[in-house]
Amino acid sequence: MAPCSDCVGKRKHKILFETAQYEEETVEKYAMIECCGCGRISMGYQRVWKYDGSVDNDYFPSPVSRKEPNWVYWVWLGQFRASDEKEAAKLMFLLREIYRAVHGGQYRLAAMGIRALLEQVMIMKVGDLPTFNDKLDAFQRDGYISAIQRGSMRATLDVGDAAMHRGFVPTEQDLNVALDVVEGVMAPIFGHANEAEALAKRVPPRKP
Ligand SMILES: [Zn+2]
Repeated sequence: MAPCSDCVGKRKHKILFETAQYEEETVEKYAMIECCGCGRISMGYQRVWKYDGSVDNDYFPSPVSRKEPNWVYWVWLGQFRASDEKEAAKLMFLLREIYRAVHGGQYRLAAMGIRALLEQVMIMKVGDLPTFNDKLDAFQRDGYISAIQRGSMRATLDVGDAAMHRGFVPTEQDLNVALDVVEGVMAPIFGHANEAEALAKRVPPRKP
């Protein structure tokens, strides 16, 4: 059993190749492993301490506990509307950096990044208004978010603010909630609109 970053979670793996180095106090084992669920290949490393038999496990690349949404990659696939593409690309690069910070345990940087990302999304849609609250008001008024989302967006912005100015260290769970909020705001703008357009083209029209 080993973590798989595609299946997200522990899965049975097949060992493709294995080697070991015998040191004075430890045995270091390296294995190329293949996920039996999706076929993803990664490397497992195991250090066994001879004096008490205890084991340290590590995996490369580091396993992820959360996957980036599919629409993040649309920039590379050329699936954004031409008019949105440049702005959307900048935001998708930032979102990917945030994910990398979360995977690397850099939770403060991730929280600050999320705050900056939400601000950039609002600026893209309603312009650079003086305060966060002005932007939130306009963002809600123009129909990009509901009243409920406005509340959770405000709370998410505050996490980034506290990390930036008050030394607050968010947990992985805090970041998961913040990413749920970010994706909930961004998916209808960047993901669903294009997907729904493609869907509408495939569905036969109603008879008049
Ligand atoms: Zn897998």
